[in-house]
Amino acid sequence: MQILGEMLIGSASIKGKKAPIQAVNPATGELLEPVYAGGSQAEVDQACELAAAAFDIYRETLPEARAAFLEEIADQILALGDDLIVRAMAESGLPRMRLEGERGRTMGQLRMFAGVVRSGNYLDVRIDPAMPDRAPLPRADLRLRNIALGPVAVFGASNFPLAFSVGGGDTASALAGGCPVIVKAHSAHPGTSELVGRAIQAAVAKCGMPEGTFSMLFGSGRDVGATLVAHPTIKAVGFTGSRAGGTALMTIAANRPEPIPVYAEMSSINPVFLMPNALAARGEAIAKGFVGSLAMGAGQFCTNPGLVIAVEGEGLDHFLQVAATELEAVAAQTMLTPGICDAYSKGVDRLKSHTKVTQVGEGQASTDPNRCQAGLYVTTAADFMGDEELCEEIFGASSLVIRCANLDEFKTVAESLEGQLTATLQLDEGDYAAARALVPTLERRAGRILCNGFPTGVEVCQAMVHGGPFPATSDARTTSVGSGAINRFLRPVCYQDFPAELMADAIQDSNPLALRRLVDGQNELA
Ligand code: NAP
Repeated sequence: MQILGEMLIGSASIKGKKAPIQAVNPATGELLEPVYAGGSQAEVDQACELAAAAFDIYRETLPEARAAFLEEIADQILALGDDLIVRAMAESGLPRMRLEGERGRTMGQLRMFAGVVRSGNYLDVRIDPAMPDRAPLPRADLRLRNIALGPVAVFGASNFPLAFSVGGGDTASALAGGCPVIVKAHSAHPGTSELVGRAIQAAVAKCGMPEGTFSMLFGSGRDVGATLVAHPTIKAVGFTGSRAGGTALMTIAANRPEPIPVYAEMSSINPVFLMPNALAARGEAIAKGFVGSLAMGAGQFCTNPGLVIAVEGEGLDHFLQVAATELEAVAAQTMLTPGICDAYSKGVDRLKSHTKVTQVGEGQASTDPNRCQAGLYVTTAADFMGDEELCEEIFGASSLVIRCANLDEFKTVAESLEGQLTATLQLDEGDYAAARALVPTLERRAGRILCNGFPTGVEVCQAMVHGGPFPATSDARTTSVGSGAINRFLRPVCYQDFPAELMADAIQDSNPLALRRLVDGQNELA
């Protein structure tokens, strides 16, 4: 499939007229063809009007048709073949194996959501039959089902050019819920975006979905992105990126005449607590596992372990020694964009020049463009707490170790943290009492709590929570990974005393969709 530098608006492909963007190969600094001229208000209006026109038809497509559509998108993405992988490698600097794995994850997500649609559980149907003889007042017939929220604006993420971009988790969950999607493509990987966008466009046509089910715009976030979020037809936003970008979109959405939800996944430093017994028994293995997690993908994961908390003593000293040795072998890796590399270098320089921070070890340096040199630093709990600079995410392979005077300081440090995507406990049986005391704080701070693992590597499944209190996300009640992600794009409607002739299939007495429903307070199994 060719890439032509065009936006996709419904079934059309058109060139923009606003300021152009051009991808850079971060490994070499080379500019990549073609140039992508940005969209204007006219293209935003066109895409939004098509999405609004598609909404009532698309959201009532039969489960089998919508599931087959999601599977067709997965097939079309696979059919792009090696062209997709080669372009994504050039635009992101990520290695082939990682991108092939990410393509598999992208297709897996789409297929998982096809299963979610077929099961119909997301409709959460509840039926409270009429009680005409109830005293003192009769009860009406009340039936609830979830419906789709409306057209959704999706902002692709730079660090997952496939799995969290044009055809990624936000798009898959919104389409599964019955919402048309308009993607604001990430400026770092426009060619990858165009290829995937065209695959989705082909799936829309092949499956006979309404034209406005999917569109994709290029251009600056502050221009086309902001215009899209402000557009009255848009009813929700999915975003992964910086805290500054996410909060800017939250402000735009909150100040609209009709405010809308923004589901932004932004910033997390993912604390790892090394409990004393585990550290004493397995300090070396934990240090090796930790450095592997820290350095993976140049640390460009939202779940990168950016903070380690441990009680000072021999165990911690040994951990730091092993981690420093492991780090020496970590090669400098290409970062996703010059901007991300620059932000990483500035963050590391801030740590290095901080009077209360000491460097533990560093990875290999490189003079090639946009390389990340991994680093590990240490400070004390007393110096860490209250120092906002030390709590900020440094996106990349850098982590800060907090020396605590005693176990009580674990809780004080945990209480001082902002919301997190994850919190990790490295623990042995002798640590259970201390861990039990810490868990309630971690539950209030994080969306996922792990024991004896590392936070990188997010399983796409039914039970996953990839969310957490602000600033990890803008809405702590939600997840952006896993089947629960669909709930962000739904809302409940109650139908009171509806004639059967007007009822949707999901709430009919005969249960033609064979759904699992709650009828008169009892589970009705399909
Ligand atoms: P970003 O700068 O937030 O950009 C993400 C998307 O939002 C882009 O499409 C961008 O548009 C748009 N955008 C940014 N600011 C905006 C604004 N004020 N108004 C409207 N749209 C806006 O994120 P990034 O480029 O991917 O990475 C930059 C930093 O984000 C990293 O250094 C890191 O700190 C953080 N990050 C965090 C995660 C995470 O998972 N926690 C993931 C990736 C990045 P443009 O196309 O104009 O840039």
